[in-house]
Amino acid sequence: PRAGPPPWLERLNEAQRKAVDTLDGPLLVLAGAGTGKTRVLTTRLAHLIHQGKARPYQILCVTFTNKAAREMRERVAELVGGTTEGMWLGTFHALAARILRRHAELVSLKPSFTILDTDDQIRLLKQILQAEHVDEKRWPARMLIHVIQRWKDKGLAPDRVGAGEAGDLVNGKAVDIYRQYQERLITLNAADFGDLMLHNLTIFTKHPDVLEQYQRMFRYCLVDEYQDTNVSQYLWLRLLAQKNKNICCVGDDDQSIYGWRGAEVGNILRFEKDFPGAAVVRLERNYRSTPHILGAASGLIAKNEGRLGKTLWTDEEDGEPVRVRGVWDGEEEARQVGDEIETQHRKRVSLDEMAILVRAGFQTREFEERLITLGIPYKVIGGARFYEREEIRDAIAYLRVVAQPADDLALERIINKPARKIGKATEQAIHDLQRRTGDPMYFAARQLVQTDELKPQARNALTGILNDFDRWRSMADGIGQVELTETILDESGYTLMWQQSKKPEAPGKLENLKELTVAMEEFATLGEFLEHVSLVMDNEDRSDEEQVSLMTLHAAKGLEFDVIFLPGWEEGLFPSQRTMDENGMAGLEEERRLAYVGLTRARKRAFISFAANRRIHGQWTSAIPSRFIDELPQDFVEVESDRGVYAGIGGGSAEDRADFIYGGGYSGGYGAGRSAGSDVSLRSDGPDPQAYRSAGGGPGWQRLRQRGVGGTKPP
Ligand code: ATP
Ligand code: MG
Repeated sequence: PRAGPPPWLERLNEAQRKAVDTLDGPLLVLAGAGTGKTRVLTTRLAHLIHQGKARPYQILCVTFTNKAAREMRERVAELVGGTTEGMWLGTFHALAARILRRHAELVSLKPSFTILDTDDQIRLLKQILQAEHVDEKRWPARMLIHVIQRWKDKGLAPDRVGAGEAGDLVNGKAVDIYRQYQERLITLNAADFGDLMLHNLTIFTKHPDVLEQYQRMFRYCLVDEYQDTNVSQYLWLRLLAQKNKNICCVGDDDQSIYGWRGAEVGNILRFEKDFPGAAVVRLERNYRSTPHILGAASGLIAKNEGRLGKTLWTDEEDGEPVRVRGVWDGEEEARQVGDEIETQHRKRVSLDEMAILVRAGFQTREFEERLITLGIPYKVIGGARFYEREEIRDAIAYLRVVAQPADDLALERIINKPARKIGKATEQAIHDLQRRTGDPMYFAARQLVQTDELKPQARNALTGILNDFDRWRSMADGIGQVELTETILDESGYTLMWQQSKKPEAPGKLENLKELTVAMEEFATLGEFLEHVSLVMDNEDRSDEEQVSLMTLHAAKGLEFDVIFLPGWEEGLFPSQRTMDENGMAGLEEERRLAYVGLTRARKRAFISFAANRRIHGQWTSAIPSRFIDELPQDFVEVESDRGVYAGIGGGSAEDRADFIYGGGYSGGYGAGRSAGSDVSLRSDGPDPQAYRSAGGGPGWQRLRQRGVGGTKPP
């Protein structure tokens, strides 16, 4: 130990300092968003090293993402100097994989084992299901893999799954199938993600000497985002920390948003039971957000029932109220967000300090489009930009070949996608011919099918796709590009390929393909659209420039920005209908926590918006503002529509509210629904006026009434 208090302790408040200073024994830091939990953890890590309590490799530190691990590593290096070498700092998966590689043989794997992705997992399980003559319609592999995954999340190897857990899944054979699946993985020298933890648990329980070796080594364990750990992760931590009990977990039950992946908030409650005498530190001062943002977020989360409850306060200046704005449709929403970004930028807010947080991946497209038009650089965090996503590139490749047969790169990309028996040999034959003639691929292929060089099957397949392209090209002049695209995706079997895919990302890809056709409508011709796409794709890497960030709410955990945009707060979209259907009340509460996470990312300003008309997966729907908007305490929000500020959405009468939602004069119908000051013109392909008018008495309106909008009497 060196003399004098290190400077980093002075940058903490009293409660935080206690959390950093209480170096020995179990410690739980339970605190709301922005109270410095991550700062505490980072400082604690630095402090442990500085105080000589542990060497870097003797500390186990779990973060939620690899990015968070990287940042923490940098912070610690900064605090104590460059001694982060050998640190066990990373995600549960990364840390467990590292341990498993060292002891693979104890679970009959070789250290070189491969980690399977979901696609491989499903393929493997399918083989087993087929061998067992399981009716795959009744028991789809995708569903069963999910079941197995949840068992693994709970730390249950096949021999530990109770009869009650399995029920009559797969007619009582589920556990047997799980066992076979595990055996196959071993034969293949492979592990899936769940196995990383599960094998660790097996090793630790069956080989106490190995466990002890790690218990000795890890003098201290630190865990961030503790509320999102699942049972097997919890058991893993408990085993590792049981000996010296120096474990510090930080978390916030209100930010538990991975229940759908097996996370258990109950782990917070178990902690105090499993580590008796654990110190619990509560941090109540929020350093991130203005009182307005904090008030809005706290009021919203107070609607959840299953909470531990906590206080949050801040010393910041009041700041601006959270702005809630109703707009006509998604396009207008994107325009307003774009304008606001420019306004904020003029007020010297860096683009790096602004983020748009969406509920579902397909929602980024409209904003990307707008940002590109405005020339504002942006990045998509945790995913690809819309036009760089696999399925979008594929679809565009088809269109490019239609528009320009000589586009070899495009043709190459999709000539056998979906698989249509045009194999490597065929492609090679085409390329050979090209080398001799110098013709583009498409024309070389045409010549090749005239010869008998290819086997009949390959020749037929190739002729088939070439004829398809000729047909699509001849259609192109007669029909609009949207219809053309739908036809191509349909007739080529491309859509079907994703419909039949069991990949977890398949539904999202289908949503993106729908969104692509929505995007195309804004262009007069296919050529114009493709031109637009090539300009969009021309975005070179600008990582050293200021950029606006786009991401899903899930990906935003732990991050902070000066200005946050939260678009699409509409019933069905957010809260997501799917989550509510699948998980009822618990699902709704998880969605509300997601809203809380979203709002609390903002330091200075938060802009919430909703559209009266939303195009979801290509279908127009007239949307109802999210119930979360009603739930925001009025004191902290300012609601405005196109016509200007409208005070207190939750407080007005139901008529007022409907009036507000539908932009005025809802009973007057469509025409009156457009607000005077708006510059949005109606498109002929816009929402069905009839459906819109029925908002006054139709199902949408009913729903609004039934929900009993905050303090509203029925009209
Ligand atoms: P979340 O729940 O969103 O993960 P958190 O509790 O981990 O939030 P941090 O990200 O650690 O909170 O801190 C929020 C912000 O407050 C950061 O910008 C951090 O630097 C700042 N902060 C934390 N503690 C202090 C302090 N004592 N003095 C000044 N700033 C602080
Ligand atoms: Mg944090």
